[in-house]
Amino acid sequence: MAILYSGKCFLRHQTGDHPENPDRLAGIEQRLQRSGLGLICMHPTWGPASRERLLRVHAPLYVDWVRSFSEMGGGPLEPDTIVGRESYEVALLAAGAACDATERVLAGEDRQALCLVRPPGHHALVQEAMGFCIFNNVAVAAKLATDEAGLDRVLIVDWDIHHGNGTQATFWEDPRVGFLSIHRWPFFPGTGAADERGAGDALGTTVNLPIEHGTSRRQILAGFSAALESLAAKIRPQLIFISAGFDSHRLDPIGDLGLETEDFATMTEMVLGAAQAYAGGRVVSVLEGGYNPPVLADCIETHLATRISLGH
Ligand SMILES: [Zn+2]
Repeated sequence: MAILYSGKCFLRHQTGDHPENPDRLAGIEQRLQRSGLGLICMHPTWGPASRERLLRVHAPLYVDWVRSFSEMGGGPLEPDTIVGRESYEVALLAAGAACDATERVLAGEDRQALCLVRPPGHHALVQEAMGFCIFNNVAVAAKLATDEAGLDRVLIVDWDIHHGNGTQATFWEDPRVGFLSIHRWPFFPGTGAADERGAGDALGTTVNLPIEHGTSRRQILAGFSAALESLAAKIRPQLIFISAGFDSHRLDPIGDLGLETEDFATMTEMVLGAAQAYAGGRVVSVLEGGYNPPVLADCIETHLATRISLGH
C-alpha cells in the first residue's frame, strides 16, 4: 500500500500556454487505475495548508499578495510563474497534501506517501514565487515534521533536474533538516554549486551534486548513490522527503539530463534503502517538475510501483 494524493483539484491551477499546465496530471489518475496501482493505494481526503504552517516558510505579506493577485484574476507573479483565479486555493491544497501525508506517515498509517500535486514548490522562496513554484510544499511539510512532530533529523532528497534553491534557502542554517540536490549544471536557477554546503550548525547538511549535460547515466546514478549514502549516514533521518521531479528524463522538453524511466526506479530504490536503514522505511514524495505528460506518467508509475513493491 501507499497513501496517494491526487485529484481534479490540481487541474484548477490554470496557467494558459505554459509547460507547467493541467495536462501534466490530467491523465495520471486513469493511468494508475488502469495499471492497478491506484486500486491498492489509500486515497485520503485532506484540506488546505493552514496559514500557520505556510508562515513557517513564507512571509505573511507574500501569502496575502498571492491570494489577492490570484483572486483578482491572476497573471504572472514573476515572468515564469503564472497564476489564475483559483491558483491560490490550489497551491494551498498542494502544500496541504504534503502536510497531510507527513502527518499520516508519522502516525503510522503507511510508510509510503506520494503527493501528485501542482503547482510545484522547490524554487519558491520566503517572499518570492519562482520557476513555476508558488509555495514550497516540501519545505512546509518538513517544517511540520520538525516544529510540530518534534523530529530533529529529516532528510529532503531533491532529484528534480533544477536545483531546489527555495528548499536549500529554507534549511540553510537548520541542522535538523538535511538537503541533497542533484541537478543539471550550469542551468536554471543558477544556484547549487558543490561548495554550497549550509552554514552555522548546519554546515555540511546541504549537499549539492551539480551534473554537466552529457554525463553518463551510470555516472549520474553512482554519484547520487554515493552522496545519498554519505549524507544519510551523517543525518540518520527519521523521515525522508523526495522532491520528485522527473524533468531529467531524456525526453523532457525543458530538462533532459539523459535519464531513462527505469533510472527513476533505481533512484527510488536507493532512497528506500536509506529510509529502511534509518527512518523505519518512511518516505513522503512530492511532485516537482516533469513536462512531457506521457513520460511523466511513465515515471510516476515506475516510482509508485517501486515504492509499493519495496516499501514494506
Ligand atoms: Zn525542474
